[in-house]
Amino acid sequence: MSKINIERADANFKYEVASHPGAENIKKCFSCGTCTGACPVFRVESDYNPRKIIRQILLGLRKEVLQSKEIWLCARCYSCTAHCPQGVSFADIIVVLREMAIQEGYAPKNILKKIDEITDCANEFRKDCINRITGNNSLSEHEIVSKVRTKVAGLR
Ligand code: SF4
Ligand code: SF4
Repeated sequence: MSKINIERADANFKYEVASHPGAENIKKCFSCGTCTGACPVFRVESDYNPRKIIRQILLGLRKEVLQSKEIWLCARCYSCTAHCPQGVSFADIIVVLREMAIQEGYAPKNILKKIDEITDCANEFRKDCINRITGNNSLSEHEIVSKVRTKVAGLR
């Protein structure tokens, strides 16, 4: 585990985050980890950990949070929000973090549009695969992969 440089901590960070609609309850987090256990992204990327990101915010690690790739991995499915015993809505907190990251120059301005395109691509891939296994789709395996390749190429 990396050491925390307390001199770089921003004591106002948590208050700034909490001032946004939907993020008000962040200070109630008692670090139980239920959000992480309920997160579908954590299942495929163990470095992605909502509990840890909340802890970093509460510790004032502004730069570490806003420059991290993790804040872009959230699929905004609201599973964490639905399961949190303290009423913390990480799915809303992540929106605040993304907006701060763009405003403070840690991410390109068009990144939100790209994230939406990735979500659309993932949903379409999922739909095609489910149609295939349920026999409701005439697309071949090659055609499904080809569609994804075209979408991914368009993201550059
Ligand atoms: S489930 Fe809620 S209280 Fe538990 S770590 Fe996540 S945000 Fe904090
Ligand atoms: S909203 Fe984001 S952090 Fe919460 S469970 Fe879904 S993917 Fe995970």
